[in-house]
Amino acid sequence: MVATMTEECGEVARVMNYLYGDKKKKEGETLEDLKEELADLLFTIICIANDQNISLVEAHERKLEKIYHRDNNRYQRK
Ligand SMILES: [Mg+2]
Repeated sequence: MVATMTEECGEVARVMNYLYGDKKKKEGETLEDLKEELADLLFTIICIANDQNISLVEAHERKLEKIYHRDNNRYQRK
C-alpha cells in the first residue's frame, strides 16, 4: 500500500507539473485529472490507516489542533 501511495503521489505531482510546472500538458489533461489523482491518493491513505487501525478523524483533529494552536504563529501570513 505504501508503494501504491507513493505511485499515486507521483501521479498528483505529474498533473501539477503539467498544470503549473515546466512539463508540457498532455492532451486532454484537466483539473478533473488532479481531482481524480488526489482522490486516488486519499484512498490509499485511508486504506493504510484502516489496515493499521488508525482513526484518521482523530489524527486529523489532532493535526488541526496543532496547526491552530501550537503552530499558530509559526509561519508568516501572506
Ligand atoms: Mg491515480
